Amino acid sequence: MQFAQRLQHCETSAIRELFKLLGKPGIISFAGGFPDPGLFDVDGLRAASVDALAHWPGAALQYGATEGFGPLKEQIALYSANKSAPLQEQDFIVTTGSQQALDLIGKCLITPGDKVIVEGPTFLATIQCFRLYGAEVISAPIDEQGVQVDALEQLICEHQPKLVYLIPTFGNPSGAMLSLERRKRVLELAAQYQVLVVEDDPYGDLYFDAPPPPSLLALSKDVPGSRDWLAHCGSLSKILSPGLRLGWLVGPPALLANAVMCKQFSDANTSTYAQATAAAYLQSNRLPQAVTQVRKVYAERAACMAEQLRTQLGDAVSFVQPGGGMFFWVRLTGAHGGERDATAFSQRAVEQLVAFVPGAPFFAENPDASCFRMSFATSDLERIAEGIARMARAL
Ligand code: PMP
Repeated sequence: MQFAQRLQHCETSAIRELFKLLGKPGIISFAGGFPDPGLFDVDGLRAASVDALAHWPGAALQYGATEGFGPLKEQIALYSANKSAPLQEQDFIVTTGSQQALDLIGKCLITPGDKVIVEGPTFLATIQCFRLYGAEVISAPIDEQGVQVDALEQLICEHQPKLVYLIPTFGNPSGAMLSLERRKRVLELAAQYQVLVVEDDPYGDLYFDAPPPPSLLALSKDVPGSRDWLAHCGSLSKILSPGLRLGWLVGPPALLANAVMCKQFSDANTSTYAQATAAAYLQSNRLPQAVTQVRKVYAERAACMAEQLRTQLGDAVSFVQPGGGMFFWVRLTGAHGGERDATAFSQRAVEQLVAFVPGAPFFAENPDASCFRMSFATSDLERIAEGIARMARAL
């Protein structure tokens, strides 16, 4: 069969190959990017799906508006307002996960040969999606405070990209958090160079101690002209359930109009049943308590992972302890002539029945082969300690 030329820009991810190995009996996996299913509010969602069918039986089982189900949009607007980013109904659309929002952005904006800038490292699916639409994906350097804004400005001037994609809060895979000062600079750059900045924010609520700085969306009201050049992707996946496949896209009116058009002939509408269930759930006001619980459990696991990495792997690794999210981004230092190649290390680790993800595929350019990503979300404290002991044996 002759497949479309656009597929030549994509490859099955190295991560998928690794995932094939994860079925090994007894393996401890830090490789996934899934939330802990033990933390899903099953009772709350069961009650919400019953409520949804009681209140909106027709709407919940019928086709729906491409823009999203009204009662859910009201709840998302309230949720966003609580985070200092009030939204009107026309400011956003509901999407089938935030991943669909990213796909719609790519579909609406990228002409083959266009350049886009992402963080190095960044979310792999975004790199793949933008490449599928023919983008040349350029990588901007980051540190523990997120993207380096001077370097970003230079890259914008040099490449005149169609868009800049950032995960400012607890990045996947970096765990990094863009500082308040840099957030303001990013918005100034968007307005000054008239380049669309896409803020992907699925992890902002998963902070451990202090809340993160306000999102770019919340800050955009203080930076004149920036809102016209900002898109924001939100998601219920990491705070409620990824199985619902519910996200949203905030953006300038023309972008939303085109996204709605493309969504019409893609999935027509996001599952009305899922939207009605989420609307009923958010109305029941159980989310704050559920998220508090997730934060508490993840904070304990992250603290444990940091402690175990320090005590068991010592100066063989370096990392910045994340203040939220789901990931540690760890570097092999090569101290005392030790291992520096995360791919070789991960292969030996799988033999010891522990898995994590080598970092190179997360870079659109200039891969750093010494890094790897570990998720603490789905392992209890005992398994974290045991898994890292196995990693020590694989060093
Ligand atoms: N963006 C980032 C940075 C992610 O890590 C993920 C999920 N792993 C997504 C988007 C997609 O999430 P959703 O379930 O909302 O489609």
